[in-house]
This record gives sequence, structure tokens and C-alpha cells, in this order.
Amino acid sequence: MKKIIIAGAGHGGLVAAKLLAQAGFDVTVYEKKAREDLGYDQYDSVHLDGFEKAGVPVPEKYRVHRTGLAFRLPGSDLPALRQGVKDDTFNVEIDRRALYDWLLTPAAQMGVHFEFGCEILSPIVLGSRVAGFETDRGPVYADLVIDAAGIYSPIRSQLPESLGIQNMPRKYELLHPYRAYFARTPGVPDPENVYSVMPLPSPFCGIMWAIMKGDEVDVLIASMEEISDRQIEEKLELLKKDFPQIGEFKRGGRLPDIPTRQPLSMLVADGYAAIGDAAFMTVPLKGSGVGHSMRAGKMLAETVIADKNGFYTRETLWSYQAKFFDDIGFGSALMAVLGNEMPCIDAESLEYVFSSGIVSSEMLEQFGSEAGITKILMTTGVSQLTDMTKKIVGHMSLRRTLLRGARNIGRCKLVERGFKNKYDARMALRWAESYDRFFASIRTFSAGQAEKIRTAVADSAIAEEE
Ligand SMILES: Cc1cc2nc3c(=O)[nH]c(=O)nc-3n(C[C@H](O)[C@H](O)[C@H](O)COP(=O)(O)OP(=O)(O)OC[C@H]3O[C@@H](n4cnc5c(N)ncnc54)[C@H](O)[C@@H]3O)c2cc1C
Repeated sequence: MKKIIIAGAGHGGLVAAKLLAQAGFDVTVYEKKAREDLGYDQYDSVHLDGFEKAGVPVPEKYRVHRTGLAFRLPGSDLPALRQGVKDDTFNVEIDRRALYDWLLTPAAQMGVHFEFGCEILSPIVLGSRVAGFETDRGPVYADLVIDAAGIYSPIRSQLPESLGIQNMPRKYELLHPYRAYFARTPGVPDPENVYSVMPLPSPFCGIMWAIMKGDEVDVLIASMEEISDRQIEEKLELLKKDFPQIGEFKRGGRLPDIPTRQPLSMLVADGYAAIGDAAFMTVPLKGSGVGHSMRAGKMLAETVIADKNGFYTRETLWSYQAKFFDDIGFGSALMAVLGNEMPCIDAESLEYVFSSGIVSSEMLEQFGSEAGITKILMTTGVSQLTDMTKKIVGHMSLRRTLLRGARNIGRCKLVERGFKNKYDARMALRWAESYDRFFASIRTFSAGQAEKIRTAVADSAIAEEE
């Protein structure tokens, strides 16, 4: 019987674990936390699509109509930009602990073994093959290692360079989140928008949200730059001015970082496949983190089951990579191109976006739907962005940002065209290098722009003090 070991109880790894055990594989999941500590005490929205495509059943009561987000500027009277939502789009609103029950229980019933409280330390690599991993209980070896250990996976982050797999995310490729639930201040009615999302005020780049949920307010402050506890407190005070509904602190705090970058260029190696946040599959604010991971879990299991020789080489695992990029990854990469511009937008340009009416509720609806924006970016994205620049009269910096976005989407599509579904070792590595090179170049540029904006904000703050 072929042996598969899964690093971390990530969502995609658990979907794959169940399907593989069902198909007769010997599957063990190694997870550093205790079973009862998995998940967080928070509710999240996940696209229904993610569950359906991964074959994870959702009880009727958890399906809710999607709520449109309202994008607004903190401390500003400018009207919010409201996201339209079609009547027939559903999310799954779920407590993270309950979600783990949905995934773990069927996996255990299919015979998956679990080693909880077991920390993975590093990969075991023999030649070009990932043969297992070291844990605090000793080494474990297998025919295939599935890496579902999240953004800072101890496996991916320590793979040798020769495998062509990027070890760590860079600056501006992730968000550092603080999330907490507060009691609703008695007697204060709902704000105009119950689901408000805002840019994090300069000198930081990131997002905040305030969501009214029954008798609680769900607050998120997530920064692309390192942010101290004191700075989080300051942002919280700002939020409270706009949302007097935020009352006493109930629970919450800092959470694991969220990837905002393009998916990993190389998901597979001999004996190895990365999934979920370990492969940077998340597109923030779209309920995609869990959904993409679970969908990829099914794709991976099908690829492994189809490999009748049981060698699980990069070649035989390539169809997992090809299917993922085809269904999800290329779209996410285009979203990452747009997201890359985020640190480059200054406060004044943001005000222009909110006051000029260049962003419609339909555009925001397309952003929210799982297929919408991806389809648009893949088909008419370049011309749409170029058209938008024509509507922007007299705002050079924003025009430049949009034109750059359009050009980079075109460049990204050219990179995509070099991808071949049929495996060829040299082609695969060359493609991954060109994809990584492209993103490194646009990221270096945006980091430089961001630096200029932050320096200007800091200089003007000093000048004001003087
Ligand atoms: C504040 C916040 C809000 C979010 N909101 C949403 C949302 O609304 N919708 C959505 O779809 N997604 C959301 N996400 C993203 C989502 O949480 C992730 O994308 C999702 O969890 C997929 O990641 P994963 O399952 O691959 O990895 P993870 O959830 O990170 O799981 C990795 C597992 O590996 C384990 N592990 C790590 N290191 C080791 C080690 N050394 N040894 C053993 N085990 C290890 C961890 O303990 C963990 O259990 C949110 C994230 C945050 C932080």
C-alpha cells in the first residue's frame, strides 16, 4: 500500500487525505496543534463554489446569500462604493472550528491517521526527491509528501534551491492581520453599511473592516507592513470614530499572516506537492483561501490516484499543477498583478477614486464573484483598464497606475502562454523562472513606489510637527 504523509492539517490537505484514504492509500496527517485547538474562534465566509467543486457537502442552514461589501475611506464623508451582488450567489458562513469538524470527521471515517501535537521540523530530501520530513518525534518517510502546512510551511521554506520552488514570500506579498470581536455598544443603531471595508490609512498599506454581526462587531486590521500593537490600537481608535457601534473587546488578536501574492510557480517536485496557503493559493477578500485549497485538494487526489505506477514524480504530478493553474491559478496571478499596485496608491489618489465615480457597483460585483473578475481580466482586462484611464481626467498618478496595471496584465498573459500542460522538465523549470522573474520585477518596482509614498507621508508629518 502506498504511503502518503501530509504536513499540517490545512484545509486542502484534509480534502485530499479523505479522497486518498477512500481510494486505498495509507494516509497520515502530522499537525503541531492539538485536535481541539484547530481553527479559530471566528466566522468566515467561503464561496459555496469551493465546497461544491471539492465535493464537501454543506448543510442548507449554512448557505447564506452573499452580502455586498461597502468600500469607504476612513474618517471621510465621501459616499461608499457599494458592491452589487446577484441574488443567486451564496456563501458558506462558518465557524472555523465547525469547518474542521466537516473535514476531519469524514477523513477519519475513511481511515486517515492523525498525529496531533507533532511538530514538523524540516523536509528530508534525497537527491531530487522529497522523501519525508523530520518531526519532533523522529523522521517519517513516504511515497509522497503533501505540504498543507500554511504560509510559513517548514517543508517548502527549507527545500533546496535546485528544486526551483520559492522558499519564502517577500515584502508586500502578505498581510499581517489583527482580528477581534467587540460587543455592540447598546443603543447605537446599525451604520449605513453593515459590511464596510476600508484602506488602512497611510503610512501603512493594507485593509480594515468593520462588520456588524448580531450583537457583535467583527473588526479586522491587516497591514502589508509590520505593524506594532500600539499602531493597531491607534487604527482601532480611528475605526471607533467611524463606527461607534464598536463597544467592549470580547476576544481575538493577531492571526497567522495571509498571502496576497500570486500562487507558487512550482507546486510539485519528485515526491512532493504543495497546497493551500503553503502554495499561496489565497486571493484575499474573496472567500477564496479555504475554497481554493479545498478545490486543489480534490485535483491533487485525482492526480495521485491516476498515477498507476505510484512514482509521484514531478512529471506525474504535473497534471495537478496544470489543472490548478488552468482552473484557478492564472486568474489568481492576474488578481495579484492588480493587488501589486495597492502599495503604490497614495491617499490623494484614493480620494479621487471615491469621488470621481470611475468604479461602478457592477465592477465591484465582478471583483467579488469567483469567476467574474478573473474572466474579465483574462479576456478584456487590458482594454477595460485602458478605457478607465480615459475617464480619469487630470490625475496623472492614477492614470499611470492604471496603465501600468493594464500593461502588466498583458505581460502576465504572455508569461501564461509559455505554460505547457504536457510535462517537459526543462520547459517546466524555464516557465517557473519566467513567472517568478516577472513577479519579482513588478514587486521590486511597487516596493520602491511604496517606499517613496511612505517617506513623503513621514516627511509631511515631521513638517507639520515643526
Ligand atoms: C483574519 C483572517 C481572515 C480570513 N478570512 C477568510 C475568509 O473569510 N474566507 C476564506 O476562504 N479564507 C479566509 N482566510 C484565509 C484562510 O484562513 C486560509 O487561506 C486557509 O486557512 C487556507 O490555508 P491552509 O488550510 O492551506 O493552511 P492553514 O489554515 O494555515 O493550516 C496549516 C496547518 O498547518 C499546521 N502547521 C504549520 N506549521 C506546522 C509545523 N511545523 N508542524 C506541524 N503542523 C504545522 C498549522 O497548525 C495549521 O493547522 C482568512 C485568514 C485570516 C488570517
